[in-house]
Amino acid sequence: MVTVKDKVFAPFIEREALNQRIVDMGRDISRDYKGRNPLFVVVLNGAFMFASDLLKGVDVLCEISFIKLASYEQTQSTGKVKQILGLAEAVQGREVIVIEDIVDTGLTMSQLISQLKAQEAASVEVVTLLHKPEAQKIAIDLRYVGFEIQNRFVVGYGLDYDGLGRNLDAIYVLAE
Ligand code: 5GP
Repeated sequence: MVTVKDKVFAPFIEREALNQRIVDMGRDISRDYKGRNPLFVVVLNGAFMFASDLLKGVDVLCEISFIKLASYEQTQSTGKVKQILGLAEAVQGREVIVIEDIVDTGLTMSQLISQLKAQEAASVEVVTLLHKPEAQKIAIDLRYVGFEIQNRFVVGYGLDYDGLGRNLDAIYVLAE
C-alpha cells in the first residue's frame, strides 16, 4: 500500500508487467511505421514516464514533441474544450501518433484528434497506456492500448492524485 496525500492506494499493475507490455507496444509501432517518419505528440504531464519508456523501444526515425492541454469552458453544450499549448512542429501532412497516459471518457482525446486533423495531419493514431472502456462516452479509435482497466482511480507511473504520485514506478489503485 502507498499513501498519496490523504488517500491509500493498492498495487494494481506491477513494474514488470508494465515493462513487458510497453516493449510489445514499441515493437507493434515499429512494425506498423517501418520506413515512415511519424511525429509523436506526448501529452504532458501524465504521459511523460510512459512515453520515455515506450519510445526507447521504437526503432523508426521519428520526431517527438510535447504538448499540454489547457481546458476552458465554452458557453455551448459541448462542455470543456481543450486547447493545445506548445505544438511547435508543423502537423500538416505528418503521420501523427499521440501518446497519452489514460483515456477515460474520451473527451480529451477526441478534441485533440479533431484539432490535429484540423491542422491537416495526414493521419492521427493514439497510443494510450490505460483505457477505461466502461467510462468512455465518446467513440474514438484507439490504435494501441496497453491495458484495459476498470473504472477506478489510479495513480503512479506519470499519473497523479492532486499533483502527487507521478514518480511512483508502477500503477496503484485507490483502495476501497
Ligand atoms: P478523459 O477526457 O478521457 O475523460 O480524461 C482523460 C484525462 O483524465 C487523463 O489524461 C487524466 O489526466 C485524467 N484521468 C482519467 N482517469 C484518471 C485516473 O484514474 N487517474 C488519474 N490520475 N487521472 C485520470
